[in-house]
Amino acid sequence: MATVRTRFAPSPTGYLHLGGLRTALYTYLYAKQNAGSFVLRIEDTDQERYVEGAVDAIYRSMRLAGLNWDEGPDIGGDYGPYVQSERKGMYLPYAQQLVEMGKAYYCFCTEARLKGLRAEYEARGETFKYDKHCANLSKEEVQARIAAGEPYVIRQNLPEQGEASFDDALFGHIAVDVSTLDDMILIKSDGMPTYNFANVIDDHTMGITHVMRGSEYLSSTPKYNLLYEAFGWEKPVYIHLSPIMANATRKLSKRYGDPSFEDLMNQGYLKDAIVNYIALLGWNPGDEREYFTLDELTQAFSLKGLSKSPAVFDMMKLRHFNFEYVQKMNTQEFEQAILPWISTVIDPARFDTHRLAELLQPRCEVLSELAERLGFLNEMPEYDLELFFNKRMKTNRETALPVLEALYPLLEQSPVWSEQALHDAVMDYVAQQGCKNGFVLWPLRIAISGWENTPAGAFEIAGLLGREETLRRLRTSMDRLKA
Ligand code: GLU
Repeated sequence: MATVRTRFAPSPTGYLHLGGLRTALYTYLYAKQNAGSFVLRIEDTDQERYVEGAVDAIYRSMRLAGLNWDEGPDIGGDYGPYVQSERKGMYLPYAQQLVEMGKAYYCFCTEARLKGLRAEYEARGETFKYDKHCANLSKEEVQARIAAGEPYVIRQNLPEQGEASFDDALFGHIAVDVSTLDDMILIKSDGMPTYNFANVIDDHTMGITHVMRGSEYLSSTPKYNLLYEAFGWEKPVYIHLSPIMANATRKLSKRYGDPSFEDLMNQGYLKDAIVNYIALLGWNPGDEREYFTLDELTQAFSLKGLSKSPAVFDMMKLRHFNFEYVQKMNTQEFEQAILPWISTVIDPARFDTHRLAELLQPRCEVLSELAERLGFLNEMPEYDLELFFNKRMKTNRETALPVLEALYPLLEQSPVWSEQALHDAVMDYVAQQGCKNGFVLWPLRIAISGWENTPAGAFEIAGLLGREETLRRLRTSMDRLKA
């Protein structure tokens, strides 16, 4: 069997969206699993839709996701160039060959004639179809008109009747009645190929054996397969993939603000969690497993596990995956991962970020959400004294003051400033008083954090703040309670 060669062929029209990421992922997995090659090809024939910076964004996202290509624009390979605009000279000879075989023809119809034709169809309420006006021009006439400098396009010459079909590995036999199809332009008047023509020629000339792409191409594939038949080329295996939906009625789409891969990374999702979750949107391993590294996916992936029905992207599910991936990190890794996020609200040089990482990790779902939980650390926030009121702990501003006044000297005299030492000192006091823990711990935590909800308890916060700052905050709070 020929070596498997797959390709991901994005059009550089923006960031890598999640549907694209999934196609790239499956394409990568299939190649790797079969010890084949994974090719990256940039399909930029449609210059009007070209978005500046999009190619770099695609490279960046794919590399981040670990989907390293074996051949591609930036690294070369035996089948280059890998950017369609750099291949522009390659397409015309193939179209000319089709003309020789009667499978394509030169068309000199002017814009005005086509416009009139379109209007006629419209008036009859039919979809436009080119009327093969130029299909039967003699070779001599064609040559003379080209020589005279008349502009022309080259159109695919479809049979008038019959069926065009192909077999999709997932969707099975797909057939269309050719009489419903239009003689599509293959080469435009500027000599450039149309997108679909370039796509076919490239897949063949790059030796692609398996094509995976979105199911929006399912209906046009039979038509373009006629080109393979005309050339007598072996067709690749086609695997069209069901869309990823945002909800029951619409596809995931950046037009509606659905996030791209990079957006999710910028929101604090981990790449491995995203890739793992995306892999499961449209594929299942056939057993109960849910967590996969890229290598494990490479082992487990199979075409049999692909689903024909659309998958729905569920942000809560992704959060859950992210949570699980966060929990898998060791403290050092987590500390490194959170530094850029927490540095936006705290000065990391002032705090024991290792301890902070230990405290934050067990409940962390998404990294970007950590910063907002730490706002009280850098500076004591202005807070409402009513926070001392807590019905369950039986505390209020009046009960808080004597407790804080009793705790202050205990803390101040603590020989070491550690969570354990502070814990012991405070708990001794609780035991002496014979009160509930919360009666003491609630006011202490409020007095040094100023926040009702904090990601850590009073001792941990005091440990992070250090002796001087904790005592300073306590004094401020006591002064306010006295006033
Ligand atoms: N360039 C196409 C796109 O970005 C992909 C077509 C294909 O994979 O054949 O949608």
